Amino acid sequence: MQDLDSLTRDLLDRIDACTDLAALESVRVAALGKKGQITERLKTLGKLSPDERRIAGATINRVKQQLVDAIEGRRGSLERELVERELLAGRIDVTLPGRGEGQGGLHPVTRTRLRMEKIFRQAGFTVAEGPEVEDDFHNFEALNIPADHPARAMHDTFYFPDGRLLRTHTSPVQIREMRNGQMPMRIIVPGRVYRCDSDMTHTPMFHQIEGLVIDENISFANLKAVLAHFVEQFFERARALRFRPSYFPFTEPSAEVDIQCVFCDGTGCRVCKQTGWLEVLGCGMVHPNVLSACGVDPGRWQGYAFGMGIDRMAMLRYSVNDLRLFFENDLRFLRQFNRG
Ligand SMILES: [Zn+2]
Repeated sequence: MQDLDSLTRDLLDRIDACTDLAALESVRVAALGKKGQITERLKTLGKLSPDERRIAGATINRVKQQLVDAIEGRRGSLERELVERELLAGRIDVTLPGRGEGQGGLHPVTRTRLRMEKIFRQAGFTVAEGPEVEDDFHNFEALNIPADHPARAMHDTFYFPDGRLLRTHTSPVQIREMRNGQMPMRIIVPGRVYRCDSDMTHTPMFHQIEGLVIDENISFANLKAVLAHFVEQFFERARALRFRPSYFPFTEPSAEVDIQCVFCDGTGCRVCKQTGWLEVLGCGMVHPNVLSACGVDPGRWQGYAFGMGIDRMAMLRYSVNDLRLFFENDLRFLRQFNRG
């Protein structure tokens, strides 16, 4: 049997020589495992006399402890080396050039909405919002459009199985505001609306902005003045307005409003189809039935309302000829709007 001293030296050398944790573990098993060389030595103690056993036992146990300490020490330094190596491999070279920074910007429709809101805020309006999932009462019934009304055919409505719907216009917010709000009232309502329709000038989702003023002694003249002011501010020059009698269930009288073409100043061009006019909004005096449905006394209060497409106004402002471009997320298109 190998002399214990030389065995110990041999094992200590092997521990020192280990370059990874797996090799260290196999040395530990060879020395201290169930059938390890030191373990085997301890098993032989039973054959010795009590005196010899005491001395030999103490010696072997001292060696065993020496080996355990050496293994733990080596394991510690191997683990530190491993961490060092991993840190080195994952090191970030801060001197390398960066990847560049993409600068985002507001969508042209958002820019247009903010511009419109600003103009109306300056004219004393506050901004109101409401849910996009509506019920029949707020979207139709309270707006003087009962179930059998032919105007419902103009709204290609998305319905949910439970009868609720995606609002087809921002007008339900008027109803909510009038039912909860204080008179007099002066609000604009920008937001998304939905109709089952898609071509060059229609998308299933689009944006509307709607205005509502309720007060005493309000007339069509007030409406005309507010719209003329808005159009002038929005296009940055005075435009002639043309009011054409029209029909909406929730206003009476109603009108559609054309503005002098912003591209040809009224002389006729491709955009205005040679008419010199652009159709931009609908408006009218709030129908007494709508006021009544909201608990507002039509004998005391009158109001006007108007609505227009934000996307349509963005098309006119930026000379975009296909509405769908706004929703295709083509960065080459969108980047053109973010130069200040
Ligand atoms: Zn024109």
